[in-house]
Amino acid sequence: MKPAIVTLGSHSALQIAKGAHDEGLHSIVVATPKQKSVYERFPFIDELIVIDNFADFPSLTDQLKKKHAIVIPHGSFVAYLGMEENLEMQLDYFGSKQVIVWEFDRLMQRKWIEEAGILVPKRFKVGEPIDRTVIVKTYGAAGGSGYFLARTQKDLEKNAVKIQNKEYLMQEYIIGVPMYVHYFYSPLTEKLEIMSIDRRYETNADGLGRLPIQHQDGVTEPSYTVVGNSSLVVRESLLVQFYDMGQKAVDYSKKHISKKGLFGPFCLEMVIDEQQRCFVIEISARIVAGTNLFIKGSPYSDLLYDEPMSTGRRIAREIRTAAEQKELHKVLHED
Ligand code: ATP
Repeated sequence: MKPAIVTLGSHSALQIAKGAHDEGLHSIVVATPKQKSVYERFPFIDELIVIDNFADFPSLTDQLKKKHAIVIPHGSFVAYLGMEENLEMQLDYFGSKQVIVWEFDRLMQRKWIEEAGILVPKRFKVGEPIDRTVIVKTYGAAGGSGYFLARTQKDLEKNAVKIQNKEYLMQEYIIGVPMYVHYFYSPLTEKLEIMSIDRRYETNADGLGRLPIQHQDGVTEPSYTVVGNSSLVVRESLLVQFYDMGQKAVDYSKKHISKKGLFGPFCLEMVIDEQQRCFVIEISARIVAGTNLFIKGSPYSDLLYDEPMSTGRRIAREIRTAAEQKELHKVLHED
């Protein structure tokens, strides 16, 4: 029996379900009553299951097991189900669960990127004097809304109230272009693919640059709420670094995180400075919402595939191929 795929109705569910359907797999979306009206509009969703709350998802386990459903995690899984529930989920799961534990913890995430040999912005310890512009990030600040910039010790003191009783980190502020590189690592072919690249439009950080400097005085701190994404192609010479960084993240995870390591879709969030150095500020070990731009593929996926290939479809292709080769175990989480 062909596997089915299931995901929560949120984040990148449309892309995932369309990709599965296009690959001939049964696509199941689990939605709450509020979202039902959106998801029932799309005929590529073969089955829509409505539950009162996403937290009730585990109650569907037996029903989904009978359909040979494989869970495709996305950015809303930890948010809606919680880390414990994700780890304990009894359904087949596309990806390694250990990597989300590392992704979730800022210090472990930093250890992963740094020890893998990927360039990261310099970090200043709490209390350490700063000698350049830093970005101060409080943990759990949604969309970077509680972040602030500081160039001197005085700036830090001025903003002390924002970090009082909070956990935070201080990082060199990289002046450059933020980019999100979307990768796919195939455990079947052991090849790394760049699927697409996007940039985010963040308000008001992107708005500040449009304001002449004489009018910037007194303007509040930049904030980084994402309000849109656009597609990017980069200087071709940057691809060498991009592949190298992605491969390092995969290799490290196989050695230090779990046997299968990081596989399937992931994203490196980076800022590229004037010397074209790529500083990685975050790794997302799963499909990211920026890939929603590329339902019909991107210039990079077009170079690899002669058909429209979104990240969602690429996931389904991997599952379909694994099932055909009787190697499904290679693409599923294993304890
Ligand atoms: P998310 O988890 O949604 O990606 P977040 O709240 O964890 O976001 P970060 O990704 O750490 O926040 O940062 C938000 C934004 O702040 C980035 O998209 C980037 O524009 C900017 N930023 C963060 N760190 C740096 C840095 N070291 N140098 C320059 N800009 C930075």
